[in-house]
Amino acid sequence: MTIHHSVVVPVFNEREGIPALVARFEALASAVTSGAGSETMEVILVNDGSRDGSDVALDEAAKKNPLFKVVHLSRNFGHQLAITAGLEWAKGQTVTVIDADLQDPPEVIRELIAKWHEGFEVVYAVRRSRQGETAFKLWTAKVFYRFIRKLTQVDIPLDSGDFRLMDRKVVDAFLGLRERHRFVRGMISWVGFKQTGVLYDRAERKFGETHYPLKKMIKFALDGITSFSTVPLQLATYLGVASSVTALLVGLWAIYVRLFTDQTIQGWTSVMLAVLFLGGVQLLTLGIFGEYLGRTY
Ligand code: UDP
Ligand code: MG
Repeated sequence: MTIHHSVVVPVFNEREGIPALVARFEALASAVTSGAGSETMEVILVNDGSRDGSDVALDEAAKKNPLFKVVHLSRNFGHQLAITAGLEWAKGQTVTVIDADLQDPPEVIRELIAKWHEGFEVVYAVRRSRQGETAFKLWTAKVFYRFIRKLTQVDIPLDSGDFRLMDRKVVDAFLGLRERHRFVRGMISWVGFKQTGVLYDRAERKFGETHYPLKKMIKFALDGITSFSTVPLQLATYLGVASSVTALLVGLWAIYVRLFTDQTIQGWTSVMLAVLFLGGVQLLTLGIFGEYLGRTY
């Protein structure tokens, strides 16, 4: 029985790197297909609305070699949606997502496939080292993935990105999720199945530059947190409880001052009590809304 492997590559403004990418994937495909069993491969290049001529270069690659298939998105939808589009088109029994900039070495896919043959259904690639990234990016990534683990119940593996292999079952489960703000790596952890990691060294970007400037990194982080955690919504509850307790204490004190001392200004006690009480009630109510919203979400 032939086993068919798909590879999904999101591409946004990567023209200079495309010849190298094509060569690396051709080499990978011939290594995979010349193995002992009969295995085939397809590489789905998702052009995420590139504006630098990547589209033409991708079409040319597909014309020369049927290994490549190109999906053109009508505009730039962003990395996570480009991956999703590619997964919709992939036909293989395994589907591997990998970046186009060759920071994730395509050769590692052979190791991912080997793990799949051992019976694992998700094989994620874990960065042992990362070259050519700024200290700032390394630090923010480290803090973010540890923070999101604390904040959520989902076991998102540390130091891994979207570079991972999935079994057909996992892809189908993933495609069943209709999230708008997609945090793909979290969703794949969420669907479960038998998961394992493979270590690799992440290379530096050889061509072009990163498409994740600080602004996008923040949006990405917020998508991750709000998709997988209701802790921010529950903040109102905690604040409401804290301010109600404070209100009670200050209220008691205000009454004490009114009754047993002569330092009060006319009307102060009742105004203080009203403000404190309403503030606490409002925050608690918001918190209750938050709890229900979190459950609907
Ligand atoms: N990418 C994309 N759409 C975007 C931004 C990025 O498809 O809007 C692709 C990009 O071509 C690359 C991958 O997503 O293949 C990861 O992007 P990048 O290398 O810029 O991120 P970094 O490695 O710096 O985190
Ligand atoms: Mg990159």
